[in-house]
Formats: sequence, C-alpha cells, structure tokens
Amino acid sequence: MIVNVIELASPNHAPRPPGAGVDVLVLHYTELPLSESLDILRDEKRPHRVSSHYVLAEDGTVYRLVPEHRVAWHAGRSHWRGRETLNATSVGIEIVNLHGDRHDYPAVQIAALVTLCQGIVARHPAIVPRNVVGHSDIAPKRKDDPGLRFPWATLAGRGIGLWPRPGAKPLDGDIQAALQRFGYSPPVNITTSDVVAAFQRRFRPARVDGIADAETRALLADLLDQVGGEA
Ligand SMILES: [Zn+2]
Repeated sequence: MIVNVIELASPNHAPRPPGAGVDVLVLHYTELPLSESLDILRDEKRPHRVSSHYVLAEDGTVYRLVPEHRVAWHAGRSHWRGRETLNATSVGIEIVNLHGDRHDYPAVQIAALVTLCQGIVARHPAIVPRNVVGHSDIAPKRKDDPGLRFPWATLAGRGIGLWPRPGAKPLDGDIQAALQRFGYSPPVNITTSDVVAAFQRRFRPARVDGIADAETRALLADLLDQVGGEA
C-alpha cells in the first residue's frame, strides 16, 4: 500500500540521549479529531508540551511531525521491560480515534498503519515484536489507548507486535512476576489488579476485570513462550 505522508513539523522535540537507540514503538489514539490533534501536538505554548512522530488520520493519511531520530513527547510516565521514561527510546504514533473502546478503526486507517509500522520496524530492527506496545501497556491504569477495539491481532498477523495463541497451559505462581517478565510495570502506585487489567485490555479485550483467571494466565504463558522466556 502507498501511504500519503504530509510533512507538518512540530517544534516539540529533543535530541535522543547519548547512546539511546530506538527499540520501542508506542501506539496511541488521539481522543480528539484530526485538526485539534495536529494543533495540540504542534503547540509550543502549552505548559505541558506534547508531540508524536506521526499522526495517522482516519483516511490513512500520515502526518510526520517529528523526525524519528529526535525524541517526541507522547508517552509520559511509563515503564516497559525495566525501563522508565520511554520517550527517550521510542517512536510514537497518534492514531485519530475519539475513543478506541467505543469506535472502530477504519480498515483504510489500519492498512496505512501496517505500512507505516513496517517501515519504522525496518529502520529500527531493535523494535522486536514484543516492543510494539500500546500506551495502556506502558502506563497501566493511567492510560486506556489505543483501546479495546484496536485490532492488535490484525497487526500481529502482519508482523507488528505479538498476539497470543489459544490453548496454552495456564502458568502457575506469581502473576505479577510473570507480567513483569513480559514487560509490564511493577505495582508502584498501582495494584497488581491494575497491571492484570492492562494486560487484558491488550490481549483479552472481551473481559477486562483485573482478575488473573485461567484464560489470562494461559495467554500470558503463551506470550512468554513466544519471547523464549528471555527477561
Ligand atoms: Zn496515548
């Protein structure tokens, strides 16, 4: 698919810290229509300036706001695989959707997203599938995006991110430790139930209740299997 890319520079960016390679891709929804999103992500007068590398419109048009070699300010307080402040090492895409729990993502938008993500991953091979995350994965409880209707399975089928296979044996033992082994945050200022809910939001959207039931444990077991148990 050919994706239409429009350059629309944002002043909100910073250099990557020395030695910081790009190894995480963070997906968001905007919660606002396209024009407001583009305004806010390019506003240098806000007390809390924000930006992202890309904004993806509902019709599949891509707006490039920040070059990938610069830091954009999209993740905020965040954690993945033992690292904090993921802006330093991530690329962020804001996908136009008013709330991904309630509004489907149009097929043309997802097709463009797949192409955009494949390009980013090709340019930054350290972005392994496990490091393609939603904002809700890296900021449990605080963030809900990209939402329950985001088609993670479709993306995984195209090599972007992971999706659990059914039928694994539920893992025994400490669910919090297992979630952290996969990448999720320790329960600092949140509870283990919040972290379980973040996992379910991503991998079992049909029921997000924060309870580490057998299905949740089986899905996590399979994902840990897919990443080979590496920490
Ligand atoms: Zn977000």
